[in-house]
Amino acid sequence: MQSKIQHLKSEMLAALHAAKTEEAIRETEIKYLGRSGLFNEIMKSLKDLPDEEKKTVGKAANVTKKEMEEAVSRRFISLESERLGQIAETEWLDVTVPGRKPVVGHRHLISKFIDDLEIIFGKMGFTVAEGPDVESEHYNFNQLNIPPDHPARDMQDTFWVANLPNTVLRTQTSPVQIRYMEAHKPPVRIICMGKTFRKDSDATHSPMFHQLEGLMVDEAISMANLKAIITHTLQQIFEDPSIKTRFRVSFFPFVEPGMEVDCTCPICHGEGKLPDNVPCRLCKQCGWLEIGGAGMVHPKVLKNAGYDSKKYTGFAFGFGLDRMVMIKHRINHLRLFFENDLRFIRQF
Ligand SMILES: [Zn+2]
Repeated sequence: MQSKIQHLKSEMLAALHAAKTEEAIRETEIKYLGRSGLFNEIMKSLKDLPDEEKKTVGKAANVTKKEMEEAVSRRFISLESERLGQIAETEWLDVTVPGRKPVVGHRHLISKFIDDLEIIFGKMGFTVAEGPDVESEHYNFNQLNIPPDHPARDMQDTFWVANLPNTVLRTQTSPVQIRYMEAHKPPVRIICMGKTFRKDSDATHSPMFHQLEGLMVDEAISMANLKAIITHTLQQIFEDPSIKTRFRVSFFPFVEPGMEVDCTCPICHGEGKLPDNVPCRLCKQCGWLEIGGAGMVHPKVLKNAGYDSKKYTGFAFGFGLDRMVMIKHRINHLRLFFENDLRFIRQF
């Protein structure tokens, strides 16, 4: 009988080894060790043995049964580790590999510059005003002292909007001055920055470009205020306290007097040449750069906005914003800003 049990045990071990699923192991367990399994089948003949043998055989049979039960448990465990081994082969993950850095974009150079200007002017008490890109002839020209027959309209090659009478893409940010003054009483201290449009397109001109516009109106505002604000602003923009400004008489219909604004070249510091006598290409060796236009607000413009031009005076200025970014970052071509070539944009 003992040999029968030993035989049964080895048969079950082989079956367990062949069982590749939990279900198969469980079936094997039931077949051999279940209530009406093969083991109990053999044990039925125990009662036919003489009493002496019954004891020893029974004891040995129990030991073997325990071994068989343990074999079943071990098989369950080994099957689980086989399964995990397979997962490790197919779904492995090396937690020590450095992570892949997601690509994060950043603001465009022009947008960043606009933010910087807000800070520079914010410290001087200026707030930011905004107006529409698609503007009426009334605000873009008439209210700025540029009537329909005025030659200044030809100076600014205007995009007229088809099918919308008297509507243009704004040629300057100046209409925002009028809109703001109509809605606010003096004192006024605003800047306006944004897109402007003219039919210009060559190496140094783009049909869309950006302007920075400033307006300050109060009692007793003079040219001295204009010069101080503009000089300080340019020193802040180019991060160079040695920047000097000069003002040349010019004509803009919405100011009187009007002037062109120049500043010393931030690269050669007004010398026209770099160390070792290398000629400065940015200012073409003259030491000065044209930056924009400015002037005292024309009394007619103040009146158009409903201000008392006897009581209030003010100044306004308009700078080419793109050009200032080009100077600051030594960029040669205006088009680079708008071509969306990532190799250019990522440099800043
Ligand atoms: Zn220079």
